[in-house]
Amino acid sequence: VKEKVPIKPEIAKDLPPEEQLRIKFGVAKLIKIRNEIRDAYLSKTGKDVLIKSGKYATEEEIKTKLDSVNQQMQEKYRVTFGTDYVEQEYGAKLIPDGTRSRMKKPYFKNILFVGDAAGRGIFVGPRIEGLNVGIDDAVRASDAIARAIDHNNFSSDYLGEYYTKSVEESPYTTDMKQIDKDYLKIFLDAAKNVPTDIIGARYGTVLKLMSSGTIRGIADKFANILGYEKLLPLIESEETYVKVPIELAERLGETMKTDYSPSIPSLADRIAKLSYNDDNVSHIKVLKPTSEFMKNMITLCPTKCYAEENDKVMILHEGCIECGTCAQETDWKHP
Ligand code: SF4
Repeated sequence: VKEKVPIKPEIAKDLPPEEQLRIKFGVAKLIKIRNEIRDAYLSKTGKDVLIKSGKYATEEEIKTKLDSVNQQMQEKYRVTFGTDYVEQEYGAKLIPDGTRSRMKKPYFKNILFVGDAAGRGIFVGPRIEGLNVGIDDAVRASDAIARAIDHNNFSSDYLGEYYTKSVEESPYTTDMKQIDKDYLKIFLDAAKNVPTDIIGARYGTVLKLMSSGTIRGIADKFANILGYEKLLPLIESEETYVKVPIELAERLGETMKTDYSPSIPSLADRIAKLSYNDDNVSHIKVLKPTSEFMKNMITLCPTKCYAEENDKVMILHEGCIECGTCAQETDWKHP
């Protein structure tokens, strides 16, 4: 949301160094307090937590406190205010991954989907990585949202369509389309040589059609018109990945085992490979150390950041992987 934001004052260089430091710390402290209250005030959950904790009785009281901190900053330190976009509420994993199907239009009403949530993550061999796509989408979504806020127009035509067009122009989208085409071509080339009697009834007709020499030329075109999303379940089926290769191998004289257990690294193994930039100050504050939710976090936190001492749950934030699971009952900030 577009919000009033404090701008730090210039500190006069001719003041004694201790005085300069005192002002610097005083301003930083007040801005921190102000941002904490503002973040809570902007978020429904944040407001509820502050009121339930007994710190404030009503929403108006929170607003009064916010105004008084603003005033204090102005009067005491000559802090001025400008406007900028600030985060309204942190919502980790509110929207599940879109699996492997790219959404035709990455929006629904006035909700924009980015990266994995829009099915733009890259999950199969020949497709490029997902994180960069997510960041690129997020920048484009932010741009579309800022434009919608400026013109107070959140209609699908103004917000969603603008974002869709921007995503279409992304170099990642161009890459994805090309990779999809290449992938289909490789697949069709491979399918051409599979004996037609191996292919099962379920996908037989389509695969036979695609592998037929006579209509081979139009098969490529047809596949690309149909699109990668529709063909993916066909291409990545048990039939094509397991049954057909086994049958082929057996015809070539090799006996195949049909059982296979993939070795998936454990969570502990994956976490052990992470590297951290340590922050001395915890980005998470426990608000209700005796609540049932917080007690459950001792088990639920994937990196075991919570422990119980004298019936109170406490946090050791250093190992946190920012999954957001504990955000519901903690004061949670991005580190
Ligand atoms: S956000 Fe951090 S502390 Fe909270 S559950 Fe996830 S890993 Fe644990």
